[in-house]
Parts: sequence; structure tokens; C-alpha cells
Amino acid sequence: MSEGRILLVEDEPGLVLTLTDLLAAEGYAVRHAGDVPSGAAAIAAGDYDLVLLDLMLPGGSGMDLLRDMRAAGNDRPVLVLTARASVPERVVGLKLGADDYLPKPFDSMELLARIEALLRRAAGSVAGAGGITRFGDIELDPDRSEVRRSGRALPLTVQEYRLLAFLAAHPGKTLSRERLLEEVWGYDADVASRTVDVHVSSLRQKLGDDPNRPRWIVTVRGFGYRFES
Ligand code: CA
Repeated sequence: MSEGRILLVEDEPGLVLTLTDLLAAEGYAVRHAGDVPSGAAAIAAGDYDLVLLDLMLPGGSGMDLLRDMRAAGNDRPVLVLTARASVPERVVGLKLGADDYLPKPFDSMELLARIEALLRRAAGSVAGAGGITRFGDIELDPDRSEVRRSGRALPLTVQEYRLLAFLAAHPGKTLSRERLLEEVWGYDADVASRTVDVHVSSLRQKLGDDPNRPRWIVTVRGFGYRFES
């Protein structure tokens, strides 16, 4: 049995029933919102550990919910479910701070595996955990799973935090996209290596690193990335 509270933001009645049964049978507590306004209210209420988010919803787009949530500094894991699994949608979703992305129709075992992985990571088993790592005006604090810039906490997603923590735990070492996918996301199937690039780009922006001349997360062309402290 699993533990965790899942907020399901989805409007297809059949899928809501199926998912609620599936998740409840696994031991999750499930709350449901069927449109954008009730989704926004449920997200703001905060009594969940993970959001399963559909994109096409009555009253607007799940993308708006995701963007508002991240803008408000809410970094709880979000797994986006959508029929629109084209690459641009996926990239936009990851840029807005989705932690993972699953196209419909999906296999229920795959869904459960991804939920479990996100919850486990959110709980904080981060590679390289130890003392606080400092670089420039940035502090990475593994005890609080927090990154601060000039003392202020940055609104990183779970995957951004994990990626930075993993990179920072291997300073000066070039890491391939494949290795990063495996270590940070925990699986390599179905995740384009573009995912790593999208997260690095977002991390640089949040850290205030210049993408043209990055100080900390250096691109190794055709291979991957290297962290310079
Ligand atoms: Ca829908």
C-alpha cells in the first residue's frame, strides 16, 4: 500500500472514476476537482502531496493552474495528463514547472510508478545530500530541500531541485543527458533528452546564470552538462 494525498484535476467522468478507484486501491487519498476554478481553489487549499493535472479543462487550461501554482512558490509535484502529447505541449508543460508528463491513454502501472517516483523524490531522498553547498550567492540546503539566492528561497520544482543537487554533488564532472535522466528522473523510457535541456534552461534562469556564458551549469556540446563551483 502507498501513502499520499493526490489532487486529481480532471473533467472526464469516466477517467475520474477509473483513476479514483485505481489510486484508492493503492492506498492514496484522492480529492477531485473537475474544472479550473475548483482546481485553483483545491490547489490553494494545499492538502495534497501531488497533483495529477489534465490540461483541457472546463473554464480554462491546466497550464494556467500550473503556472499560477509555481508563481505562488508552490513546488509540490505535478504530473500532467494530456491527450495533447505533442512535443511543443510537453516542452511548454515542463517549462511551466510540470515534474512529469504522461500522454493519454496511459497504462495504469506506468501511472502508479511515476506517482510513486515523484512522491518518493519529493520526500527528499536526494543524491549527494549532506551539508549546505554554496556557490556565488546561491545556497543549496539538502536538509530543507531548498535553494536560496541571496538568502531568498527560489521557487524550484522538485525535478529542478534534484537536477541541481545532482550536478552540484559532482562538481567539475561532465554528466551525459542519459545519466542525468537516469539519476534525476529515475527512468529513461519516454523522456526525451530535451527534458534535461528544458530543466537546465529553467534552472539557469532561476539561478540568475547567463545562458550565453553560464558560470555554474556549463553545456558540454553534444554530450551533456558540467557543474562548476
Ligand atoms: Ca479534459
